[in-house]
Amino acid sequence: MRRKLVVGNWKMHGDIKSNQLLLNDIINGLRDYKNADYVVCVPNPYLFQARELLSDTNIAWGGQNVNQHEQGAFTGAVAPHMLTDLGCTYVLLGHSERRNLFHETNLTAAARFDAAIKANLTPVLCVGETLAEHDAGLTEVIVASQMDAVMATLGDKEFAKAMQLNMVFAYEPVWAIGTGKTASPAHAQAVHEFIRHRIDRRNSDAAAHVRIIYGGSVNSKNAKELFAMPDVDGGLVGGASLNAEEFVAICRLAN
Ligand code: PGA
Repeated sequence: MRRKLVVGNWKMHGDIKSNQLLLNDIINGLRDYKNADYVVCVPNPYLFQARELLSDTNIAWGGQNVNQHEQGAFTGAVAPHMLTDLGCTYVLLGHSERRNLFHETNLTAAARFDAAIKANLTPVLCVGETLAEHDAGLTEVIVASQMDAVMATLGDKEFAKAMQLNMVFAYEPVWAIGTGKTASPAHAQAVHEFIRHRIDRRNSDAAAHVRIIYGGSVNSKNAKELFAMPDVDGGLVGGASLNAEEFVAICRLAN
């Protein structure tokens, strides 16, 4: 049985005061829930605050992106060791907002994935098709190309390390992100199964163990049905992760 995983993606939201309220409510709400894993990915300036509040709780924290370089003249970038310095154990990679708004590519996702695992960060690789690609029947082609761009760069040693760190895939159809148009459980299941089969071509043990979470307008009303699908191992939650009651309710459904 794969343990379910719920990751909150705060995106560019929050301030010290509101974060404190939100995190305290989440801590209290999830205190007794031990059967799933919970993570919040907060904006970089608040990672220190996340560490202060979440240390010794059952909630982990992570970054929303990371640079592939270890250090140097990269104004505005954050290196993997900076995230681990602040206690992060997870990092999101290849989110569609990074791809679409900040021109990141499969190539940068691959380089960052490699840098993340070198730093012992669990990568959450986001993949997913746009509405136009979906309507053109290209979902599998796009998802496969995004996965392969990263998987093909990993040698056996790196692949084993990624497995050891429990790498995560997040299927996030771009048309479902922030739109309220959640993918149907059947659609999510079909794509998650496709992702698992593709990993199976490389390593069947990895395929059986890897967690594939769904993202795109997940809320406390649709999470139950989505999480009930055999290949949906949890959720990547944006908007609803900013509301403690909603996020806690989603996390409980995964428990
Ligand atoms: P959403 O965002 O839940 O607001 O759709 C999900 C994400 O972008 O990770």
